[in-house]
Amino acid sequence: HSKREMKAFLPYKAEMDADAGRTLSLVNDLRIAIESDQLQLFYQPKLDINAGVVRDLEALIRWRHPEQGMIPPDAFIGIAEQTGQIDALTRWVIREAARQYNAWVEEELLLSIAVNISAENLKNQNFTAELEEIWQEFSLPMDALTLEITESAVVSDPVSAIGMLCDIQDQGIKLSIDDYGTGYSSLAQLKQLPVNELKIDRSFVDKVYSDPDDQIIVRSTIRMAHDMGLSVVAEGIEDAETLEWLGEQGCDKAQGYFISRPAPAAEIGQWLKEKDK
Ligand code: C2E
Ligand code: CA
Ligand code: CA
Ligand code: CA
Repeated sequence: HSKREMKAFLPYKAEMDADAGRTLSLVNDLRIAIESDQLQLFYQPKLDINAGVVRDLEALIRWRHPEQGMIPPDAFIGIAEQTGQIDALTRWVIREAARQYNAWVEEELLLSIAVNISAENLKNQNFTAELEEIWQEFSLPMDALTLEITESAVVSDPVSAIGMLCDIQDQGIKLSIDDYGTGYSSLAQLKQLPVNELKIDRSFVDKVYSDPDDQIIVRSTIRMAHDMGLSVVAEGIEDAETLEWLGEQGCDKAQGYFISRPAPAAEIGQWLKEKDK
């Protein structure tokens, strides 16, 4: 092992020591889960604050484990990344979102879907080609799916990762920067990133109505993003006051339990149809 590989494996090892049996069995089970139908996408609306409508959703993965029940992504995405299964998992996610996009088009629900991409995916040199294949296979319009990436996705090999993101954006696929403000990225780095949308992390939003410091951060982030031509989404809105405050600051979109919890496609489809009435 090179030093770099060892380092990459460290957090995994710590986790195994803490709960060796469970993690090991999840590693093996995950291979099966990706190939069988144990994975499921839940969808959470992004509300266009001004228009009061939902035109896009974020897909959030869930694992319906036969023995352990519903496992949240934070409990297995890291494992998938550390065991080389994240490429297969992400392909599954994008194909499933593409299938659901077309199913909603059939129901005359024209929604764009955002999928979460791991930093590891950007190390796969075939990633751009794989995206192109999926777009062709499902005859997707370029703006059918958006890719959400975190700032930290470009830290390990920025030149290569940013190059890949530029290629993806050149194809016409929209990119969104997730968890904005939590990473180590500087404004200089943000300027280099080819993104269309910025998502302000929940940690700045959840107390924004009462915390003056968070208000300054959120307000200036919205302004900066707009100056850079980006659309702004705030995550983690749990009450009406926060939604209203964000609207007053010119935030474009809002996501959070107050608007809707993530839910299976059928439920979200129903919710959207009822909302329209
Ligand atoms: P994220 O992309 O930042 O997604 C937002 C998380 O916040 C989701 O958790 C969502 O359910 C939760 N959330 C939404 N609104 C609220 C709210 O008002 N209050 C609170 N407290 N939480 C809210 P979830 O679904 O457990 O996902 C956790 C993380 O797992 C995601 O964070 C994302 O980084 C990752 N993830 C989810 N699906 C995928 C996937 O398909 N692929 C990859 N690579 N990562 C994924
Ligand atoms: Ca996300
Ligand atoms: Ca987030
Ligand atoms: Ca996250």
